[in-house]
Parts: sequence; C-alpha cells; structure tokens
Amino acid sequence: MENTTWACFDCHETYRRSTANDEIVPCAKCNKHCMNIGFEINIPKKNDTKSWDKLYIKLKKQERDRNEASIKESVRLKHDIEQNELRLDIIESSKDNKTALKTINKQLKKRAYTGENKPNK
Ligand SMILES: [Zn+2]
Repeated sequence: MENTTWACFDCHETYRRSTANDEIVPCAKCNKHCMNIGFEINIPKKNDTKSWDKLYIKLKKQERDRNEASIKESVRLKHDIEQNELRLDIIESSKDNKTALKTINKQLKKRAYTGENKPNK
C-alpha cells in the first residue's frame, strides 16, 4: 500500500501513512486529525508559519475545485441520462425509425435554441 503525507497544521508535523481504508491519522503531539496532503513535496519548515498557512489555503482550494468539478460532472451525467430517456421515449412511441430520427432531430434543434430539456407533447 502506498504511503502519503499527513499533516497537522496546528503543530506543523507531518507523518507518512498508508492511504488504506480512509483511516484517520491523529497527530502524535496534539491528537487532532491530520489532513492527508497526498504527495505534496514542498513541506514547509516547522517555524515557517506563513508557508504552512499558504499550503493550507492551497490544499483547501484544490479540495474545493475537485468538489466543484465533481458536482458539474454529476449534473452533466444527469442531463445525458434525461436526454437518452427522452430519445428512448421518442423511439418507443414512433411508428418507425425514420419518424423517430426526425422527431429526435427536431427536439435537438429546439433545445439548441431554447435550452429546453423536456419533450414537446
Ligand atoms: Zn498536532
């Protein structure tokens, strides 16, 4: 199992631990939970408070960006699923493939102009 670096931002201590099982790594000095800082190689010197603060802000921003990207991705997936459901509805309710394709193309054109996502019934 790979080891990553865990840091206590109160004590400016780091520990190398396995990343298995999302374990909690307590700081040996203050017993607070350490933050997994992955493979960060620029660990500041203990008394360099400014750099520790900067590192903390940087890691929190990365975490925020990852969360935002993940939310955007799940919204996109939801839209994909809705569109595929709509297409399946059209295919099921059409008398043949040609009619179905025509209706789907019409829906796509309409959506391009209005951003509309619901079938036109
Ligand atoms: Zn600590």
